[in-house]
Parts: sequence; structure tokens; C-alpha cells
Amino acid sequence: MATIFSKIAAGEIPSYKVAEDNRYFAFLDINPLVKGHVLVIPKQEVDYIFDVDDKTLADMMVFAKRIAKAIERVVPCKRIGVAVLGLEVPHAHIHLVPLNSEADISFQKPRAKLSPDEFSELAKQISEAIV
Ligand code: AMP
Repeated sequence: MATIFSKIAAGEIPSYKVAEDNRYFAFLDINPLVKGHVLVIPKQEVDYIFDVDDKTLADMMVFAKRIAKAIERVVPCKRIGVAVLGLEVPHAHIHLVPLNSEADISFQKPRAKLSPDEFSELAKQISEAIV
């Protein structure tokens, strides 16, 4: 059965898409740690990130780098933090989190609240900032 993230990449479940190519998909985390929290996934369905084949994994980080640079252009932050958990969704993904302090990437803190319009506008802005 397809994972929820495969369904998102296929457009079967809505998401606030930031970018996509034939192998990867990036979208806003629906329950963000901070404004600008993005998830990057391979379209290939693999649960655990360290089971992803070498080339797909390496290229995924290069794809994520372009997204991170775009987030930086839109969301005021010191840098983009990177995290991999995978405890909730069994489809490999990288969290990109704008950081102003170490606490911004604590997964135990209360999540940021954005309206649907704010999510849409943010996804559009990040998408347009990709070089
Ligand atoms: P983890 O698997 O522990 O890395 O956590 C999964 C992450 O995916 C969490 O930060 C969730 O907020 C996020 N998430 C779960 N479902 C969706 C969805 N439908 N759209 C966007 N983000 C999601």
C-alpha cells in the first residue's frame, strides 16, 4: 500500500508543494516546528533513509540544498537545520527547519500555527525563490 507521502507526491492527497522533479518532492510540513519547515522526500518508496540507495540519497541532499537556499531567501533565519526522524511516517524524508536558535529544531516544542492562506502563500514564495 502506498505511503501517505507517496500519495502526496502523486497529488492524491493535497499538500503545500514547494518543488518537485522526477525523483523528489518537497512540501511544507503540515505541523511545522517553525514557519518554513519543509519536508523533502524521494518519490521512490523506501521507509528508512539509510536503506535508500547511495545515488538517490546523495542526490536527495543536493535537491534539499536548493530548497534550503530558497527557504533562506524567504524566511528570516540564521541557517537551515536538517533533521531525519522517520518515527511517524514510514517514507524516508528530510526535515529542513529555519533556525534562529537551537530550540527551533526541538521536536517536543509546540508547533507553529499557520492558516491555509499562509501555508499557500509561503509555499508559493519558497517555490518562486528556487534558483
Ligand atoms: P517523522 O516521521 O517523525 O519524521 O515525522 C513526520 C512529519 O511529517 C511530522 O513533522 C508531521 O507533521 C509531518 N506530516 C505528517 N503528515 C503530513 C502531511 N499530510 N502533510 C505534511 N506533513 C505531514
